[in-house]
Amino acid sequence: MTIAIVGAGLGGLALARVLHVNGMDSVVYERESTRGSRSQGGMLDIHSGQQALREAGLIDQFSAIARREGQDMRLLEPDGTLLLQEDTPDDAPLDRPEVDRTDLRNLLLDSLPDDVVCWGHAFVSADNGLLHFADGSSATYDLLVGADGANSRVRGLLTDARPAHIGQNVVEVSIPDIDRTRPDLAAMVGRGNYWVLGNGISLAAQRNGDGRVRIGLSFYNTAEDWFATSGIPFADPAAARARLIDLIPGWDSRFTALIAACDDTIVARSIATLPVGLTWPSTPGVTLLGDAAHLMPPVGEGANMALLDGALLGLALAAHPDDFPAAVKEYEREMFARTSAAAQMSADIQDLLTSPNAAQRMLAFFQPDGT
Ligand SMILES: Cc1cc2nc3c(=O)[nH]c(=O)nc-3n(C[C@H](O)[C@H](O)[C@H](O)COP(=O)(O)OP(=O)(O)OC[C@H]3O[C@@H](n4cnc5c(N)ncnc54)[C@H](O)[C@@H]3O)c2cc1C
Repeated sequence: MTIAIVGAGLGGLALARVLHVNGMDSVVYERESTRGSRSQGGMLDIHSGQQALREAGLIDQFSAIARREGQDMRLLEPDGTLLLQEDTPDDAPLDRPEVDRTDLRNLLLDSLPDDVVCWGHAFVSADNGLLHFADGSSATYDLLVGADGANSRVRGLLTDARPAHIGQNVVEVSIPDIDRTRPDLAAMVGRGNYWVLGNGISLAAQRNGDGRVRIGLSFYNTAEDWFATSGIPFADPAAARARLIDLIPGWDSRFTALIAACDDTIVARSIATLPVGLTWPSTPGVTLLGDAAHLMPPVGEGANMALLDGALLGLALAAHPDDFPAAVKEYEREMFARTSAAAQMSADIQDLLTSPNAAQRMLAFFQPDGT
């Protein structure tokens, strides 16, 4: 019985690894040509996903790459008022440590035999037990698992649902080697998350494992084509930074200094999600996990859910090696309930971020009893 996993992201790799430790083979088809062909982005906050890493036999290695101090948090208002500062003690538990995406993906990749991941295989379609790839090649499967992320092509085999824009457009910029280039800004941002929540706009800065500080400037309640109308000249990074500063009038000069200090790497990200509570009738031979199944607002749940999906599907398949449809049904029942709760919680946090008094509401979220 051949288990074919499309997508070597966190979810697909967690599945392959849990199958491997349970003595079952799988093949992962990934469209990128090598593990390093594309930047994997910044940091991830990993909490419930640690259970998956435990099932994968990788929790000690994870603890070694996790950044405990990444749990530090500062919350501010646009006029510079500091509302909340939480510094992580050296002996604090690793409840929600930050980990570099590339490090976590490499941990999973290195835990698999070399021939499990087939690089350069972009899935196009599936029929009659055959997968078809963009280069014209094909491969057989008994169970197809779509772990191919937000714009999944496997998803269409199970549901017509498509991600829809949620009115958030993010511009990502960053300051490399901040300790050397801007120690003043490094001290201001601190070791973890630095959030400034304004009226319809937020700035989220975060120190990464490589000494770079990544900054995401989010514009809420904006249209899907906002980047085209925003007047941000993406082809001219210096002018784009100047325009970004114009787009946050009245913000404290320390925040505009952060943007002014960035290098020329600039990424535009338009945020879309799948409907909360999406399900589909269980179909023998194909299922989904991770963002392909339940794309949520980026507020810290997606990667955790993808890791858990992969691990729990792996355990279900190991428990029913002769009955994949039963395993898939069991996995989907648990996955639908768990991830719809996470998606609802993410949607609630998203509502909070887009509200006019976001900073105060976020403060109340972290300090419900006002202490
Ligand atoms: C800015 C941002 C910050 C975030 N921060 C957090 C956080 O702190 N904590 C958290 O839990 N979540 C976070 N998330 C969400 C998290 O990144 C995703 O939920 C998670 O990466 C989903 O994992 P996945 O394995 O489902 O998909 P992905 O990681 O997207 O992997 C999908 C893989 O499939 C491959 N693929 C795609 N199409 C094909 C094809 N046709 N054929 C073959 N391969 C294909 C891709 O190349 C990729 O390797 C964040 C998201 C964003 C955008």
